[in-house]
Amino acid sequence: YTQAKSLVFSKFGEPSDVLRLHTHSISPSLPSSSLLLRALAAPINPADVNTIQGTYGVKPSFSPLIGTTEPSVIPGNEGVFEVVSGSSATASKGDWVIPAKTGFGTWRTHAVAPADAVLRVERDGLTPVQAGTVAVNPCSAYRMLRDYADPPLREGDWFVQNGANSGVGRAAIQLARLWGYRSINVVRARDSEAATEALKQELRGLGADHVVTEDEFQSREFRDQVKEWTRGGREGIRLGLNCVGGRSAQTMAKLLGADASLVTYGGMSRQPVALPTGLLIFKNIKFVGFWLSRWADGDSAAKAQTVNEILGLVRDGKFKDTPVVDVPWGWDTEESVLREAVQGTLEGFRKGKGVFVF
Ligand code: NDP
Repeated sequence: YTQAKSLVFSKFGEPSDVLRLHTHSISPSLPSSSLLLRALAAPINPADVNTIQGTYGVKPSFSPLIGTTEPSVIPGNEGVFEVVSGSSATASKGDWVIPAKTGFGTWRTHAVAPADAVLRVERDGLTPVQAGTVAVNPCSAYRMLRDYADPPLREGDWFVQNGANSGVGRAAIQLARLWGYRSINVVRARDSEAATEALKQELRGLGADHVVTEDEFQSREFRDQVKEWTRGGREGIRLGLNCVGGRSAQTMAKLLGADASLVTYGGMSRQPVALPTGLLIFKNIKFVGFWLSRWADGDSAAKAQTVNEILGLVRDGKFKDTPVVDVPWGWDTEESVLREAVQGTLEGFRKGKGVFVF
């Protein structure tokens, strides 16, 4: 028998209140065409926390599957595992796999999964954190940059994004640089000028053309600044990526050129997106939402292709990891340590994304 531990919750609430560490054992006789997996790395994404709080757009179903006294959910949508035993057409012992779909429940030391619930990734040249964080943020940035401007962005085209220092934002900056798109990036000011400048510099280092604070972005003069950058507005901004909502999103909408698309994918400020009527009527701006699960769960082959393309860039040193804070998870790690790591996720101004490292 393999001894395993999973984080679980059996009712919605704050992670520090409702998350429990559950110990169970896994029988050595695996169901046919299943794999026994050992976790290597699993990030703590904002959506995971919203799911635990019960505020996310889809609710998970509670089940008694791993022997918890009450029906439970194992949170975590993303991560990388090593195959310990079992084999399938695509993966065998020692291979690395990631979940094929969302809702896998990655916050656990081990998992038994049907072979078709995972995708193999070529492990050479990658760290577990790189393989374990590719499927959500970089894939989202990739799809939004590629699929939402109509006609598609071409080299030299402009896009604008807020939350530019998020995992998604950093991925968008880097992909845009590789593809020749130009970016205007908005971040929140830090607690000192020097820290703000350091953050701007960091994003420019990733390939950002311009980085401004929310205050600069929302100031009156900013319009003129954008005109200057875009040849008097002749090169209209064709795409906006909205991570934040509220005033920031409204300002972004007003800066877009005619026929542009504003894609909302996050709501970090928890403020609604209010849109000036004229932009809809006279500028024909399209306001749409992006949800990675809709794309990835609908087409695993497309997901595998995008994941592999990005991992290729990582291997070639063309794509840098987002800053992470390792949360080591060993056999003796206390429940409270794991819970607290999850609880802090939505606080803002963080050093990096929390990642469970096993
Ligand atoms: P990260 O944890 O990497 O970054 C969080 C970002 O949110 C930082 O830029 C942070 O800025 C900003 N932020 C935090 N609090 C606030 C606030 N109150 N107001 C404005 N900005 C704030 O996040 P991810 O890249 O993983 O995710 C970012 C967003 O994108 C989340 O809302 C997530 O749910 C969403 N997302 C959606 C997907 C989809 O399919 N729709 C897919 C992937 C992500 P600061 O450093 O200044 O605190």
